[in-house]
Amino acid sequence: MTEPISLEAIVAHGLCLGCGICESMAGANLVEMAITSHGQMRPQVRNEPDDVTMDRIREVCPGITLTGPSPEQVADKGVMHDVWGPIRTLSRGWSTDEDLRFRSAAGGAMTALGCYLLESGRVDAVVHVRASASSPMETDALVSRTVEEVRSGAQSRYGPAAPLRHIMALLDEGIRMAVLAKPCDVAAIRNLGRVDDRVEAQIPYLITIFCGGVPTTHTAARIAGYHRVPKDQVSLFRWRGNGWPGPTRVETHDGRSFELTYDKVWFSDDVPWTYDIQFRCKICPDAIGEQSDVSCPDAWVMVDGKAIHEEADGANLFIARTKAGEELVAAALADGAIETEPFTVEELDAQHVDHVARKIENPARVRVLGLEGEPEPVFRGYRSDRMVELVGPDADWRAEEGARARIRKAAHLEPMS
Ligand SMILES: Cc1cc2nc3c(=O)[nH]c(=O)nc-3n(C[C@H](O)[C@H](O)[C@H](O)COP(=O)(O)OP(=O)(O)OC[C@H]3O[C@@H](n4cnc5c(N)ncnc54)[C@H](O)[C@@H]3O)c2cc1C
Ligand code: SF4
Ligand code: SF4
Repeated sequence: MTEPISLEAIVAHGLCLGCGICESMAGANLVEMAITSHGQMRPQVRNEPDDVTMDRIREVCPGITLTGPSPEQVADKGVMHDVWGPIRTLSRGWSTDEDLRFRSAAGGAMTALGCYLLESGRVDAVVHVRASASSPMETDALVSRTVEEVRSGAQSRYGPAAPLRHIMALLDEGIRMAVLAKPCDVAAIRNLGRVDDRVEAQIPYLITIFCGGVPTTHTAARIAGYHRVPKDQVSLFRWRGNGWPGPTRVETHDGRSFELTYDKVWFSDDVPWTYDIQFRCKICPDAIGEQSDVSCPDAWVMVDGKAIHEEADGANLFIARTKAGEELVAAALADGAIETEPFTVEELDAQHVDHVARKIENPARVRVLGLEGEPEPVFRGYRSDRMVELVGPDADWRAEEGARARIRKAAHLEPMS
């Protein structure tokens, strides 16, 4: 990016991913996150932040700047894997709390680690998200200070959320916290740590998912509509959990309920919705949480080399990427909060093959922005030369052409409100 870009331009050019840290840095009186007509959570500029604040926001905004992990973090142990990034330890596992394991998105790994961090006194609060109480298809940022509150956030929310909108207030409060959120939210905290010395001591744990991208709110509305339930009649909307992967469940104020399987929701051709992810997700160089302390994706059951989604006891992977993450997983295991079993990188390759393709095609998708005269985000430290080698010239060209077609159709542009 050659010249300073405004928040409005970040949104308009499809680079915002909705983390909410700009609201936190500017103050909600100036910049406030809100759902737009496009169905995504975006900053609304009520009053322009001053130049100093805007310069800082630009340094921190993960929509336009990402700096990948340091090889140093695996210098003494583990590997910097070409595709999967830093891995100090790798295991498969789940929460030992059977109720949590059942109701969480996968095996309850993230919530179990969040609860463990609070119970062991390592943090004072957990920053995460939860279904909105007032509008159950939407998702609120949550700061939890009790185990029960942390547990209430278990489940995946396939829609916009702005988990970081309270971060600066929490830093000012002087507390220690863990963040449980998407890889790009984690990246925003790492960016913040480069300009705010408090982050290292006060946010010692960043725990994340593997992320296929964030769909708009229209997807949830279409699922409710499929059951002929208007938005104002929805009393509960669960994407998954209560099993693994568990059903997508809609409940109504008048006591009706509807369920669809994970495969029906995401892999069926005969439904009136798509996984309509935001443009920024299509050029995401790190949907696997390379900058986290621990990544906790699903540990899918495999049959004939393919991930299946038949109901089973929930399971995650624990990919410890830093010393802090490795120590956390080991301590949670020793203290009985989680159970683990061995797992290999070859199994990871097979289970999350979709993320391999996204990773190696990424440089081509990003490159096109600059070639087409669009603002180009600065992504450093993600081994892009190696990705180009791995994908090969033909697939690199196809990825570039696909991205170019989207840009020329202006499919990346977004309305401001
Ligand atoms: C948008 C999205 C895309 C996903 N894509 C993939 C994928 O490509 N591959 C894959 O294996 N799994 C994907 N998942 C599922 C994810 O891997 C599981 O949620 C993860 O394995 C954690 O399981 P768990 O049982 O430990 O989570 P739980 O213990 O149930 O905790 C879920 C955690 O996720 C956080 N969270 C949920 N939704 C959001 C959100 N919208 N924004 C920020 N934080 C959120 C919550 O704060 C909570 O801490 C996705 C989930 C989401 C929300
Ligand atoms: S990515 Fe985050 S910091 Fe950047 S504009 Fe969007 S909400 Fe704000
Ligand atoms: S795909 Fe990347 S940019 Fe999109 S929500 Fe996931 S981590 Fe963020």
